[in-house]
Amino acid sequence: MAHNFDLVIIGGGILGTSLAYFLSHLNKSKQIAVIEQAHDVAFHTSGRNTGKVHAPYLYNPEKKKMFAKAAYHGYDMWKIYSKLKDLPFKEDGVIEVSRDKKGTKVLEKYLKWGKENGLQDEEINLLSKSELNKIEPEIKCDAALQVYRDASTDYSVLTKSLMKDSKQNGIKFLLDTKVTDLKNREGKWKITLNHEHEIFSNFIINAAGGESIDIAHKVDIAKNLTDVHFRGEYRKAPKEYNNLTKTSVYSVPEFPDYPFLDPHWIIRVDGTCEIGPNAVPVFSPYGYKRSENIKEFVPKMLEMLGSGARKAIFDKQFQELAINEIQSSMSKSAMIDRVKKFLPKIDADKITEKGTAGIRSSVIDEKGKFVPDVVLIDDSMSFHILNYNSPGATGALPFSAHIINRLNENGFFRNESPDSQCGPWKFSDIIEKIST
Ligand SMILES: Cc1cc2nc3c(=O)[nH]c(=O)nc-3n(C[C@H](O)[C@H](O)[C@H](O)COP(=O)(O)OP(=O)(O)OC[C@H]3O[C@@H](n4cnc5c(N)ncnc54)[C@H](O)[C@@H]3O)c2cc1C
Repeated sequence: MAHNFDLVIIGGGILGTSLAYFLSHLNKSKQIAVIEQAHDVAFHTSGRNTGKVHAPYLYNPEKKKMFAKAAYHGYDMWKIYSKLKDLPFKEDGVIEVSRDKKGTKVLEKYLKWGKENGLQDEEINLLSKSELNKIEPEIKCDAALQVYRDASTDYSVLTKSLMKDSKQNGIKFLLDTKVTDLKNREGKWKITLNHEHEIFSNFIINAAGGESIDIAHKVDIAKNLTDVHFRGEYRKAPKEYNNLTKTSVYSVPEFPDYPFLDPHWIIRVDGTCEIGPNAVPVFSPYGYKRSENIKEFVPKMLEMLGSGARKAIFDKQFQELAINEIQSSMSKSAMIDRVKKFLPKIDADKITEKGTAGIRSSVIDEKGKFVPDVVLIDDSMSFHILNYNSPGATGALPFSAHIINRLNENGFFRNESPDSQCGPWKFSDIIEKIST
């Protein structure tokens, strides 16, 4: 193993691996490594999500412009990449329902946002209850947004393919390897791995997902921010429900300022159906099991009480919502009842199996507010991507290209061939699309 790198990416999720993919095409002779503590890429959130390639109708074009653009172009890019590599990508659309007039007003806003974010008239449509029921007779609603430009995939499979391509182009993936310490030593990073080995790098990109805040704090960055982790749980529906609807169904979230979405009716890329996710507060980005949460409870509580998260966790509405979510974790009918509001035929007794839970880490500022957008922090020797949440998997390819271009333009990490062909795309074409 080379001990000196030009650049090290911390985190082999879909974001770190997408960054590696582009860097591998733009830098043939530089030494670049991705460090991932799990035994494979996309082992955590990137491989444990709903698997939707989202159309950008949920995102305010003024406040979440970059995310909306990344989602819009991400759709085309995943479609092209999946076709090229023969990977799962099903253009199956999505339906977003409102259950009352207030919700329908929100759908009208989503329709406007969707179009402002690039969706064409034929890709998104607001339907009345009777119009929807002609297509989807089992759904109960006031109105519905039918979105054709939405797809299903398996992001774990896509990430593994990107890793394979990046490795062929010379990027090293150090798996089962955790970054346990980072020190700036005379203009180079000394990176300790698994508490024992040391490597050195000129530059680091922090794409560590649920640990990205901790990595930033280790190098004295983003000390004003902290995070709270939420476990999104799923329940698998039996085969007899596979044709209950033709399309996945989401409902208008009741509290969009909080990281609690109402669970959806999901048709996965393999045709199986699930209900979820909820958002149960947990104490670790890997808090899938009780033992991990017990281990992390005291340090995480102390960290939260000493930061802006203190205000958030003492907020009455947050507490009420969190209790709801905890109930929906302990009682399966509490979660299923939320979906029954728009799909009344579902019988909770028939839903017995749990799905694979994934954890979302939401960043909180010093005022106790959930930060609504991704946070990007440039430093002369490091770059930090914090709060990279939904639809992060959808937008990972164009978003990574944007970051690499930004590092190149700011002179922090210059690419050897800044306009190479990167698989099916010319790098400058991607940048042009997401910059306009
Ligand atoms: C329940 C749920 C459903 C979602 N559904 C969708 C969806 O349908 N569509 C969509 O587009 N998005 C969805 N998202 C969002 C999407 O999954 C995330 O935005 C995306 O996966 C984030 O990718 P990432 O690479 O930043 O993080 P991660 O996948 O968490 O990767 C970060 C990696 O860094 C590694 N790491 C951390 N610290 C260290 C360290 N010290 N040393 C070594 N390695 C380290 C971790 O092991 C991890 O593998 C969903 C998210 C959740 C939680």
